[in-house]
Amino acid sequence: MGAVCEGCGTPKIVAKTHTWRDGCIIDNASGNANFCIYEVGFHNTLFEKAGAQLGIPLDNLILNAGRQASARVIEDLLGAHPLLAKLAFKAPFYHLVEKALVDFGKAIGVGDIEVLTHRKGKRGIIRITDPYHLSHCAAIVMGSMDVVYGYPVALSVAEDDKGCLLELEPGKSDEMIMEESFARLASAELKPRTFSGMPDVPRCKACGAPADLGSLYSFDLDRGIIREQLDQERVILIGVYSLNSILREFEQELGYDIADLFIRVEGGNFKRKLAVTLLGDDLKDAQGIQDYLALRGLGMLTSMETDADTSSFMVENVYIGPVVAGRLLALCEYQHGEKYSYEYSLQGNTLRFSTSPHGGATTPMA
Ligand SMILES: [Zn+2]
Repeated sequence: MGAVCEGCGTPKIVAKTHTWRDGCIIDNASGNANFCIYEVGFHNTLFEKAGAQLGIPLDNLILNAGRQASARVIEDLLGAHPLLAKLAFKAPFYHLVEKALVDFGKAIGVGDIEVLTHRKGKRGIIRITDPYHLSHCAAIVMGSMDVVYGYPVALSVAEDDKGCLLELEPGKSDEMIMEESFARLASAELKPRTFSGMPDVPRCKACGAPADLGSLYSFDLDRGIIREQLDQERVILIGVYSLNSILREFEQELGYDIADLFIRVEGGNFKRKLAVTLLGDDLKDAQGIQDYLALRGLGMLTSMETDADTSSFMVENVYIGPVVAGRLLALCEYQHGEKYSYEYSLQGNTLRFSTSPHGGATTPMA
């Protein structure tokens, strides 16, 4: 297929449209932070546990927020390819665009996407084999359709033996709900700050992606599956719009801050990963943590201070605060072999996070 870079193994479609800098994976067309690399297992337990603890069904919320987020990612993608954008709206070329979107979806690890039947403006069926998450994958497909075909689509989801079948029907969506959640999402500030003095990640000479990306992750473009080489765990390039907006929708819905719940769940997941891999060896000092976060699009560690008990971190360009905080907490607990308390503050996109042995005033990790 020739769709991954011979130099580093990164899918060309991703390397061409994105730049790794300032702790983010930035979309070239918009300059916005676009993706982070996230473990599918973490993503799925996060929503399972959050749903169970909050006692509300989350699928609709994920579908709405994820759909808007996906539409923005696709708009940016088309913006980077003006010719593609022009063709998108002209029959019969939209099939080419459809193909580009399918390839893109597979490159970011959504699963194997097949368009079974689809004609512009008519009912269509899309199969996703091995979707990483049913509602979230459906949201991604709907968001793309909204952009490419210019109309809201209604969708039904059915599971079959290979994965899921999404049935799309034009013109039946609830536009009111869409507009509301779009307004909340649009107010998110996704333009990262530039750090001129910070060292850059070493890049592949052929495609510009981080040189280590292809040795840390393997991209199966046929199946639409990305695995972390370390433990063969499945990961995805998930839109930060998407996670960011889902978290905001939660807070909107519930009327209170849910960061602690998410920090605890993320921390628990990451602590289990540290316990069964050698990842902790790479994260012994500030440089290791900075590289780790930057390669995954999780932010830029700009300061770290530790004394006997307390560690304080400042991470900038953070779009999913609880994910970063949960990992730092897990790391401290893993390194010290005991429960830690923490102080968490996210102002704008700057995360300030400190940890100290449990017994202080703040929340211990469950
Ligand atoms: Zn490369």
